Amino acid sequence: MNTSNTPQTPLPKQETAAARWARFTPIKTGEDYLNSLRGRAIKLYLFGKLETSPVDNPLIRPSMNALRQTYDLAIEDPELATAHSPLINARVNRFLHIVESPADLVMKNKMQRRMGQLTGTCFQRCAGLDTISVMHSITYDIDQKHGTPYHARFLDFLKKAQAHNVIIGAGMTDPKGDRSKRPHEQVDPDMFLHVTGRNEQGIFVTGAKAHMTGGLNSHWIFVMPTMNLTPEDREYAVVGAVPADAEGMTYIYGRQSCDTRALEGGSIDVGNAEFGGQETLVLFDNVFIPFEHVFMDGEYEFAQDMVARFTSYHRASYVCKTGLGDVMVGAAAAVAEYNGVESVSHIRDKLVEMTHLNETIYSSGIASSHEARQLPSGIFMNDSMLANVCKHNVTRFPYEIARLAQDIAGGLMVTLPSEQDFASAEIGPLLEKYLRGRGDIPTETRVRMLRLIENMTLGRNAVGYLTESMHGAGSPQAQRIQIQRQMNVEQKKWYARRLAGIQQVD
Ligand code: SF4
Ligand code: FE
Repeated sequence: MNTSNTPQTPLPKQETAAARWARFTPIKTGEDYLNSLRGRAIKLYLFGKLETSPVDNPLIRPSMNALRQTYDLAIEDPELATAHSPLINARVNRFLHIVESPADLVMKNKMQRRMGQLTGTCFQRCAGLDTISVMHSITYDIDQKHGTPYHARFLDFLKKAQAHNVIIGAGMTDPKGDRSKRPHEQVDPDMFLHVTGRNEQGIFVTGAKAHMTGGLNSHWIFVMPTMNLTPEDREYAVVGAVPADAEGMTYIYGRQSCDTRALEGGSIDVGNAEFGGQETLVLFDNVFIPFEHVFMDGEYEFAQDMVARFTSYHRASYVCKTGLGDVMVGAAAAVAEYNGVESVSHIRDKLVEMTHLNETIYSSGIASSHEARQLPSGIFMNDSMLANVCKHNVTRFPYEIARLAQDIAGGLMVTLPSEQDFASAEIGPLLEKYLRGRGDIPTETRVRMLRLIENMTLGRNAVGYLTESMHGAGSPQAQRIQIQRQMNVEQKKWYARRLAGIQQVD
C-alpha cells in the first residue's frame, strides 16, 4: 500500500462521505464558527508540543477571530457578504458562492477590501473560495473529455458546504523537494502529495501541504496539484476534499514575527489584539478520501489549467491587501495628528503617495474582475493578465506603503518601552509625561497607534501585509512569467511598424 518513505503506521479510518458530513452542524454566527472548532480530534503541534485546545490558545485565537469576522460580516452586511445560490436556492456566505457573473467577482473584491479594513490581517478564506470556482469549471472540463462523474460529485459537495456554511481551505503548495525534478523524479516521493493506494470506497493520499493559510481553522481542506504534470506524474494528479480532522493528518503551526507577545497577557504591545493570520504545515499520512469527495484522479493533463485558473482568481483576490493599506494610511495619518504634524506638506504628500499606490492595486484587481470571461461550465473567471498585474503590484506597493508609514511614525515605533513599563507605579507616570505628543492626546493612544504600525510592518501582521504579499498566490517571478506569456509583443511591434511607416506590416 505505502509506496512512500513515510514510516508505516496503521491505515487511518475509512469513513464514508456521509459519516464525514455528519460531524458538521450548520453555522450561522461567528460564535457558532468558534464553537465548531472546539473538541475536534486534531493533531496539532505548537512549540514542539501537542496543543489540544487551539481555540483558547491566545497565540492562535486571533487567526480564528479573523475568520469569525467573515460570518459576522454576512449578518451585518448581507448585500456585500452573501449571495443567492441557485444550487440550494438560498442566500449563502459569499465565500462559498460560485461566480455567476463579472459582477460577482467585483462584489467579492469589495468584500475582501472590507474584510481587510475590519481585520488588518489575512482572513484566510479566499483561497478556498477561489478553489471552488476552479473546481466548478475543471470538473466540468474533465468530464467532457473523459466521461467522469466529477462535476456532479463536486456540485453535491458544494451544496452541502453551502448549507453547512463551512470554511474550505486550499491545500495547494507541496514542499517540492528538488526544484529541478518533476514529482515522479523526486528521491522522496512524498515531496508532492500523491495517491498511495485505493480500494472500492476511495483512495489514500500521502504528502504535505505547506504555507496552508488558515489550514487549522478550516473545516474541509481541498488537496490539489501545485503545478503542471506529465503522464509519469499520474498518481500526483489528485484533487479531493478532506475534513480538517481526518485521521492521518498532522498540523504544525507556523511561527509569526513577535507572535509570543500574545502570550504576555496585555493588549497594547501586540498591536492588533483581536486579529491575526495563520499558516500551517499539514502532513498527510495515508489519509483516506471516499470517491464522493475525489474530483480528479489521474487526469494529469488538467493540472496545468487548474493551477492557471486558480492563479487567475487568486491573484485578483489580493485586493484584500488594499483593505490593510487603508488601515496603514489611517494609522499613519493618525500618528501624524498625535504628533501635531498633520498639516505639514511632506506628510500630506506621503499620505497621498500611499493612497495612490493602494488604489493602483485595487484598480488592477477590480478591472480584472470586470473583464472576466465565461468558461464552458458557465461560470466566470478573472482576466488573467490584469490579475497577474494586480498580484505583481501587491508584491511591491505594500512595501513602499509600509516604508512611508514607518517614515511618518518615527523611530519611537521600535524603541517604545513595554506595556508593563507603562503600568509600573514608579516609571509609568514618567513614561506618560515624556512620551506624550500633542497635549490633548493620551500617551496610550499614541502608543497604541505606533504598535499597530509596528504590528503590520514588522510584527505579526507583517506576515499578512508584506511577506504574504510577496509570496502568496505565487512569488513575483511567477507573475512576470504569466505577464510575459500574455503580453503579445508581436502585435505591439506591428502597431509600431505601421505608424512608423515601415513597409513590412504583417
Ligand atoms: Fe484572502 Fe488575502 Fe489572505 Fe489570500 S492573503 S486568503 S486573498 S486575505
Ligand atoms: Fe494567501
